[in-house]
Amino acid sequence: MSDVAGECSSGQQMITVLGSTGSIGVSTLDVVARHLNKFSVFALTANTNVDMLERQCLSFAPAYAVMQDEASANVLRQRLSSANINTEVLAGSDALVSVANDNAVDTVMAAIVGAAGLLPTLAAVKADKKVLLANKEALVMAGSLFMNALSQSRATLLPIDSEHNAIFQCLPNNLDQRNSASYDMAGVKKVLLTGSGGPFREWSSEAIEKATPDQACNHPNWSMGRKISVDSASLMNKGLEFIEARWLFGLSPNNIEVVIHPQSIIHSMVEYNDGSVLAQMGQPDMRTPIAHALAWPVRIESGVESLDFMSLNGLDFERPDLERFPALSLAMSAASQPSSAATVLNAANEIAVDAFLNGAIGFGQIITVLESVLASANFIELDSIDAVIDADLYARKMSDAVVASL
Ligand code: NDP
Repeated sequence: MSDVAGECSSGQQMITVLGSTGSIGVSTLDVVARHLNKFSVFALTANTNVDMLERQCLSFAPAYAVMQDEASANVLRQRLSSANINTEVLAGSDALVSVANDNAVDTVMAAIVGAAGLLPTLAAVKADKKVLLANKEALVMAGSLFMNALSQSRATLLPIDSEHNAIFQCLPNNLDQRNSASYDMAGVKKVLLTGSGGPFREWSSEAIEKATPDQACNHPNWSMGRKISVDSASLMNKGLEFIEARWLFGLSPNNIEVVIHPQSIIHSMVEYNDGSVLAQMGQPDMRTPIAHALAWPVRIESGVESLDFMSLNGLDFERPDLERFPALSLAMSAASQPSSAATVLNAANEIAVDAFLNGAIGFGQIITVLESVLASANFIELDSIDAVIDADLYARKMSDAVVASL
């Protein structure tokens, strides 16, 4: 690797996109396709979506395509071989890790949804890659261990979540990500994490309880995968982001404030001791933070339209309503508990959201599952990734039992 993080000797960054068939994965490849002189695709990965991964392999000819699901990998292998494409198809969790930490890779986009993204993302960090982190669940479930692994590596971690990317852009350039004291020295007072409030911002508690999956996935400003869309509707997404910000920026929970901003034009802000507040603005389009992180520390064109200030009808701000959106409150309090609280919360939420999307429980029962599982757990500091995985599995079993009882 050269001195510029994530750039190989040819000047092209070799990239693995974990979760390439998802919303973030597709936006990443859209930006990559605009700059094929700068980026070359080493590996693409998916869970079961053979059709889309096949199309992406035809377009980008990666060295490897990995499918978590073995049967799907077999179908893809046959199709690519019939099309005379040389991409090698692998299957399973170990293969996800191997394309994340391969010596040939400079940059890893971590865009698998949920806990399944933890091990390959951590493998990329330990292998000193430039890691673009969309998979917030990895940091929520294993925050301190993840950041310790980063400290012990030469990896560069760049946030993709639009809010955290905005905060990163509003912080001084020379800040040492590995040293929380440097934030104090830079005079950072607090970060203001903005959120649109989701599709139910103006709904009554009674209406929210009865919301359907289609209503929950109908986000007013952002087009996203189904799990994060439901999290945005419950404001759990803002809660997970609260925990993510705590770890990414080495902040005390007291220095993070959630601000509802329905237009999603300001993507987050940093307040300094002298009263200055820096905001990052732009269209609500994930290609902006993706392009920013892909090319960092320089800027490249992303395909995103300019922000037209003359067409804005004002920028509004309000406090989050923790009564109608109790998931945010649960996550904010988990951020101040021993680390297993966030691990358990994340696992219970993944099970509850999946059950909601599959019609097994109502929207209002997501919070019932979370409260019930959190109430039955003892929170402890998890001191190894094995302990995190055990806590995650335990919480999933408990959550399955609660879902079955509803
Ligand atoms: P999607 O659901 O759209 O895509 C998820 C990706 O992960 C797909 O490629 C999917 O494959 C793959 N995947 C799912 N389960 C597994 C598994 N068990 N093992 C391996 N791969 C798996 O999600 P998004 O793109 O919306 O979100 C991805 C991550 O980025 C999430 O952590 C989310 O919180 C975060 N994020 C997303 C934003 C957005 O705008 N979408 C904004 C900020 C953060 P397949 O297609 O085969 O199912």
